[in-house]
Amino acid sequence: MGGQALEDDAVNISWQRGVFDAHCHPTDTMTSIDDLPGMKAKVLTIMATRREDQTLVDQVAARFPLSDTDEYKRSASKFVVPAFGWHPWFSYQMFDDRSTYEIPDAMTHYKTVLTPKVEDVAFLKTLPEPLSLAQFLTDTEARLRKHPFALMGEVGLDKSFRLPKEWLPDETQSRDPSLTPGSREGRRLSPYRVQLAHQKVILEAQLRLAGKLGRPASIHSVQAHGAVHEVLQSLWAGHEKISSRQKKRRSSAAGAHAADDEEKINQGPSSPLPFPPRICMHSYSGPADFLREFLNHKVPIDVYFSFSDVINFSGPSSEKVIDVVKAIPDSKILIESDLHRAGAEMDGRLGSVFQRVCDIKKWSYERGAEILGRNWRCFVFGS
Ligand SMILES: [Zn+2]
Repeated sequence: MGGQALEDDAVNISWQRGVFDAHCHPTDTMTSIDDLPGMKAKVLTIMATRREDQTLVDQVAARFPLSDTDEYKRSASKFVVPAFGWHPWFSYQMFDDRSTYEIPDAMTHYKTVLTPKVEDVAFLKTLPEPLSLAQFLTDTEARLRKHPFALMGEVGLDKSFRLPKEWLPDETQSRDPSLTPGSREGRRLSPYRVQLAHQKVILEAQLRLAGKLGRPASIHSVQAHGAVHEVLQSLWAGHEKISSRQKKRRSSAAGAHAADDEEKINQGPSSPLPFPPRICMHSYSGPADFLREFLNHKVPIDVYFSFSDVINFSGPSSEKVIDVVKAIPDSKILIESDLHRAGAEMDGRLGSVFQRVCDIKKWSYERGAEILGRNWRCFVFGS
């Protein structure tokens, strides 16, 4: 048997052990869902992003349900773990009515949340009727409760995104009807962005809900790692972890009983916390230096970093990502396809990022499958 055959064999064994997609969007191409049972990946973690895909993710999860946290180990079937959330690209479509019953006029709302200020009335008229954040949170809470392993996602912040322009007649005609509507597809971009302050409001509200239900969150961040950290930090303020040395110092000063109480406050979330217990920075594009902010021992959230072939290992940033992958602790790394259709291409993308990460980390493929499988499990289920 030649070297290549041996390598292929090792990769095949890894697939059998289990490869997990920590972040993907197959509901963007619903016709591809029929290919899911024939895939090599064991479990897909499927994100919802906008008004058009929340119920689709709900339906697909109901079709491939995980009945307990070990079922995927016992069964050769393929499974879906759903995630429900509102992506920052669509954050402008929501108004914050959590402390008011007033429904803003659509034009006024869009003029407030978009930047630069929109004077182009024709463009404003093409935007959809804005939605109530309060209602979305109620609906999302119901969906999360319906799916006991569901995550919050995809949520986040994006400083570079611009709204697409309205559809042109010839674009509408040539559009692929198998794609779930609502995304950019091939449209040209407008000059308008969503104000970061508004994105933060939508993100923070969703992270609080994740905290209330004790669910992990999958986070999108483009040129906004500092801002994401700021939002999380404002939520975890007062809940920072204390080191064992600090604990000892406090217990000798105040007596063991008081120290026990301290530990409960810091670690025992018998009452819900205002932030998710675990997050995944999906297709992480930040610098290695920034990892420290999230991996600091005081941070009361378990932070994972996920990588995709599509975003991280194609294009100019693929050199930089090698240092980032090396710097991440073995137990905090995940892989994902971030792809918009299920099937062979998704397996191919996952296989490719799997091999890249194993090579950078100098793991054998078998060991890589074991580590990455365990990490996915810890991120999604908590243990
Ligand atoms: Zn995504």
